[in-house]
Amino acid sequence: MEKILIVDDSAVQAAQLKSILSDTYDVVAVHTPEEGLRLAGSGDYSLILLDVVMPGMDGFTLLKTLQEGRRTRGVPVMLITSLSDVSNEQYGLLLGAVDYITKPFNALIVKARVNTHINLYRYRRQIERQSMTDQLTGIANRRGYEEYSAAKWNEAVRLHVPISLCMIDIDHFKRFNDTFGHPAGDKVISTVAKTALAHLHRSTDFIARYGGEEFVALFLGDPSERIFGHLQTIRKAVEALHIPHDPSVAQWVTISVGGITIVPSESSSYDTHLKIADTMLYDAKKHGRNTVVWANERMQQLWEC
Ligand code: GH3
Ligand code: MG
Ligand code: MG
Repeated sequence: MEKILIVDDSAVQAAQLKSILSDTYDVVAVHTPEEGLRLAGSGDYSLILLDVVMPGMDGFTLLKTLQEGRRTRGVPVMLITSLSDVSNEQYGLLLGAVDYITKPFNALIVKARVNTHINLYRYRRQIERQSMTDQLTGIANRRGYEEYSAAKWNEAVRLHVPISLCMIDIDHFKRFNDTFGHPAGDKVISTVAKTALAHLHRSTDFIARYGGEEFVALFLGDPSERIFGHLQTIRKAVEALHIPHDPSVAQWVTISVGGITIVPSESSSYDTHLKIADTMLYDAKKHGRNTVVWANERMQQLWEC
């Protein structure tokens, strides 16, 4: 059930709206803008109904704050206005509210307008999700990764915790395609993605298809030795699938992995560290493939024996 948040200092008015909408939606009503802001920040709501005239922080200030918040700016806001409130209504719409409902409430009109905005929002989220998902493997695509990594990098800087960036590439994959055909190659990409995904543990562990037969993974919180070991497990798991390769290059399909763990500061560059991960991957390729090469916090290389 989609969730709706009502922010209205009048308990009577909020209760009226709630009774109109609560057979179809999960409706929560709060009576101060501060509480509205706190709840909206949870990111759980699909629509916010906002009374513009409230004591203390007014609805407009709340609306502006919602429009600036990373988790709240996409959520549609409808204003609750009265017929005499035309200038407030205009101002609210200019600030980014999607629509308004007027007092006294007409239940059918309120319901119809709310349904429209909830449906639009649902549709938009679906498109956004699709645009960040790789169709072949079902995991995130590069765009999804970039969105996620930017947020997690900032988090690591703020909390002074280790973050690991990792590049994974299937070995001799051009040869695999040449020997077994492109559709068989597609299956391998998909199987490798599923295998890596099955070995992620924490809710913050993340893997995406970066392009072609290359994946990128991100881990938060663990030290280098631990993540290094973790990637060795994934490498071994792919090898253990025993997918036959072209015998002139390898017995089974394998992956090479390069990565780095650091505790980033304000002055650290994400791009530079992703390049280091890529250099580690290059070293893994150069030294025979089917290997994990890692750079630790002290910029020492860890090699798989
Ligand atoms: P290396 O071990 O050095 O990584 O060699 P490689 O052959 O894997 O690397 P290279 O980058 O030369 O070739 C990557 C190949 O991946 C080329 C392309 O045919 C194949 N490839 C890229 N995207 C796809 C895809 O979506 N499906 C399939 N089947 N093959 C793909
Ligand atoms: Mg490759
Ligand atoms: Mg490649």
